Amino acid sequence: MTSTVSIPSVRAYAAHAPDSGLAPWQYEPRDPRPDDVAIEILYCGVCHTDIHFVENDWGMTLYPVVPGHEIIGRVTAAGPEVTRFKPGDIVGVGCMVDSCRECSNCRDGLEQYCDQGSVFTYNGIDRPTGRVTYGGYSERIQVKEAFVVSVPDKLEPASAAPILCAGITTYSPLRHVGVKPGDRVGVVGMGGLGHMGIKFARAMGAEVTLFTRTEAKVEEGKRNGAEHVVVSSDVEEMEKAAGSLHYILDTAPVEHDLNPYIACLRVDGTYLLVGQLTPLNPPINPVPLLMGRRSLMGSLIGGMSETQEVLDFCAEYQ
Ligand SMILES: [Zn+2]
Ligand SMILES: [Zn+2]
Repeated sequence: MTSTVSIPSVRAYAAHAPDSGLAPWQYEPRDPRPDDVAIEILYCGVCHTDIHFVENDWGMTLYPVVPGHEIIGRVTAAGPEVTRFKPGDIVGVGCMVDSCRECSNCRDGLEQYCDQGSVFTYNGIDRPTGRVTYGGYSERIQVKEAFVVSVPDKLEPASAAPILCAGITTYSPLRHVGVKPGDRVGVVGMGGLGHMGIKFARAMGAEVTLFTRTEAKVEEGKRNGAEHVVVSSDVEEMEKAAGSLHYILDTAPVEHDLNPYIACLRVDGTYLLVGQLTPLNPPINPVPLLMGRRSLMGSLIGGMSETQEVLDFCAEYQ
């Protein structure tokens, strides 16, 4: 008698069209590989990007789409080439599950800027098979070891999930520019990214100013570690903040005018843009950039070693 090994279908939540919402769905997993870590998913954060993909806001959704790229789970099996993980370990998977691993950016630990494009956790194309990848709104996932991070024991697993996208997205640029004690950092927006940005800047020793359009967020900002809160619709308050900040981390995901915030940077200040993916409207007036040698920088998530670093950082500073 012959027997075939059958791998059970994966139960997930998928959207099938921009207006379908999410519904239970099943898919056949790809064959396991020697460097795969098989993960039972325990928690998955809900990121704004998930909603953009479900609703096809960026015109690039491959339906059916299973969102979710803030995944925390327990290892159930490790392939023969896996060296860092064993069954039972609590691990995380963020926005990427693969990259070319050979280009200079990959070799520098900047897999998110892979020359060939990194493979996103969902709505990506699996390099060996050409299959669409499915994310964390699901019961399990198998991921190449190099794209799995370890969740430190000191972190509560459920609360660690948002670190894998919102956390690394804000930590990476603040680290890259070298925020240090005594720096003054502004954070624009108080959503998922803004919360994280305030906490990281504070933990790095900076004095933090939150910019928000809503009075209702003033107390929330202070509770989360902002020393100052500027209501950005208040022209007088904005004028008082002019020229005062070393860095501004702009997390607002929707179209907004950057010019009043750029005016709040001091000479040599840097504006870190992580939230907005649409063209800037109104355009940036270059004069304040020139007159104060100010810079504008974009940043996308972070590499795998830095993703491990931010989890360890959170475990230490929580
Ligand atoms: Zn995300
Ligand atoms: Zn690469």
